[in-house]
Formats: sequence, structure tokens, C-alpha cells
Amino acid sequence: MTIDHCFAPASLHGWMQLALNEARRALHVGEAPIGCVLLDADGSVIGAGHNAMRETGVVTAHAEMKAFEAAANKVLPGQSYTLVTTLEPCVMCTGAAMLAGVTTIVYGLKAPADAGTARVEPPDSPNATAPAVIGQVGAAESRALFHQWLEMHGDDESRCEQRLFIDQLLALTDEVVSGESTKPTATRARPNSESPLCPQ
Ligand SMILES: [Zn+2]
Repeated sequence: MTIDHCFAPASLHGWMQLALNEARRALHVGEAPIGCVLLDADGSVIGAGHNAMRETGVVTAHAEMKAFEAAANKVLPGQSYTLVTTLEPCVMCTGAAMLAGVTTIVYGLKAPADAGTARVEPPDSPNATAPAVIGQVGAAESRALFHQWLEMHGDDESRCEQRLFIDQLLALTDEVVSGESTKPTATRARPNSESPLCPQ
């Protein structure tokens, strides 16, 4: 079975649970609770990862990039892949997905300030893709993990930058609280406000 045109809600939510499990791993080690799995055309997980920016000190260590790293040597030209991530991917990760031949991006919670899905145009390179984008899958579960992060780590001054990111995300996604009644939304990738600063 290929998954290119098979987006049954049960499959979407099943895949999202795998990504949410990755996000929970991030939560428990104090990273921003964002998780991702990369699936091949058969729907098998070939890479998984969670945000690791704090652990690694690497600004590009987003969940999606870690999933691509984990899938090293398994992403081949001419194949189709599905990227399932708990938070709408940023410009970097959306661009990486296009270069990797990802044909579908499935995300959980919308990321109004940081999302790349509506900002990034696919390049003209031979294997680049313009992925279909399916959002709001497991959005409430994803959002709840950010609340949990605040409860667990919100008072830690050394995590100020993470907290600012999460505070903004929660403020901008207030309407998602009713959660799973939100139907998945499908679009196709296409085409800032000032960020508050941590106290010095
Ligand atoms: Zn990213």
C-alpha cells in the first residue's frame, strides 16, 4: 500500500501519535515538546526525532531535522515521503522537506509566528517537491504538551527563550482549545512580528 493518496483520519491520527510520543520524550528532558516521524511510501517509520536545541546547543536541531538525520541513507531520489510533526514546521524544515522529496506534511498544532508551510516555495531542483500540507491533526494534544512544559519548566530562568516561544505559541493558538473537533485542513505548500527578548 502506498500512502500518497491515503489520508484516512485513523492513519493520520495514528502517525501523529508516534510524533506525539517523540514530543513527550522532548518534554521530559526539558526540550520544547515537538516531535516528528518520517514515513516512507509504505507508511513505515524511517526516521524519528524530537527537538534537541537545548541538549545540542545547535539552533537547527528541530524535531524534523533530527528525523531527517535519523533517516540518513534511507531518503532516496524519486521516492515519496510523509513528514508528520506535532507543530507546523518552520521555513528551514519546510525547505528541507521539499529538498528531501516529502510529498505530504502532516502537522498538529498551527505555528502562526514561525510556520514555513505558506512561506516557502519549492526550489526548481530535480527531486524537489511541493508537498501537500494537512494540518490540525492532534492539535489539542500537541498544544497540551506546551502547557505541560510551562508547568514543569516555566519557572526556570535558564529556559527563558524557550518560555517566550511557548508563551507566544499558546497565545496565538488560543482558539484550538476545543481541539479534536477541529477538522484536518489540507493545503499545498506555498508562499514577523518583533520577538520579545530575554532579560539580560
Ligand atoms: Zn524547524
